[in-house]
Amino acid sequence: PSAMREVILEVPKVNWEDVGGQSEVKTQLMEAIEWPQKHQDAFNRIGTRPPTGILMFGPPGCSKTLMARAVASEAGLNFLSVKGPELFSKWVGESEKAVRSLFAKARANAPSIIFFDEIDSLAVIRGKESDGVSVSDRVMSQLLVEMDGLHQRVDVTVIAATNRPDKIDSALLRPGRFDRLLYVGPPNHTDREEIFRIHLRKISCSSDISIKVLASLTEGFTGADISLTCREAAVVAIEECHDASEISMQHLRTAIRQMQPSEIHSYEE
Ligand code: ATP
Repeated sequence: PSAMREVILEVPKVNWEDVGGQSEVKTQLMEAIEWPQKHQDAFNRIGTRPPTGILMFGPPGCSKTLMARAVASEAGLNFLSVKGPELFSKWVGESEKAVRSLFAKARANAPSIIFFDEIDSLAVIRGKESDGVSVSDRVMSQLLVEMDGLHQRVDVTVIAATNRPDKIDSALLRPGRFDRLLYVGPPNHTDREEIFRIHLRKISCSSDISIKVLASLTEGFTGADISLTCREAAVVAIEECHDASEISMQHLRTAIRQMQPSEIHSYEE
């Protein structure tokens, strides 16, 4: 029972407007999670059920976590978040118990979302052990049992995220498990404009700032890179003048030059 005490239960406060771009993924999440909660009767009448598990994949820093939190927030669902590797490190010897109590906690706090970040970590050592069953095998089996057990209910949804879809165990992708796949890709020019607007909203900005130019200067940046750029620009401004009260285009240009944009790998959709 102690195993999952550390998993924090929250109702995130992230709105769809806090996510730049990704309109297709937002719609998919809304339809898969928000609608079934709001229009359960219609789903029952028509005789269809929403997905139990959704797998988001794509390069780091492109809003997988942010959108998982946003859909929970917008739909008013409790949110339980676990990183795959934590299941092995934090609860040594109690990994399967941790999975079991995570799902129990989600059911007790339904309607809810379980968010599994870095789900690929569960597969790393699976099957590689010669003698008997490895810890990750047992965790995986427990996860499959729990997923299959959710089949009858619409009020607990599991979202998993990975940067390495190629490492996902195919058993997880069978119908009734993580059978809805959503690609979360890097931002294009228009998306980057939106992301800059979002992150500059809370910062005092001089009137010379051009969002369009910023988007042009940041090809290859992820949303996380842009967020960091905006914070760095503030540091640049304060470095330059301790009395600074706003950031200028020059500060942002300097911050952009200093950034090493994340290397974005290509992903097969
Ligand atoms: P990882 O695979 O590393 O977990 P991720 O895809 O889950 O990455 P997030 O954690 O959601 O990425 O993004 C990190 C931060 O970058 C967010 O908290 C947010 O501040 C910013 N960010 C990323 N994408 C966007 C976006 N589309 N709009 C606004 N902010 C963004």
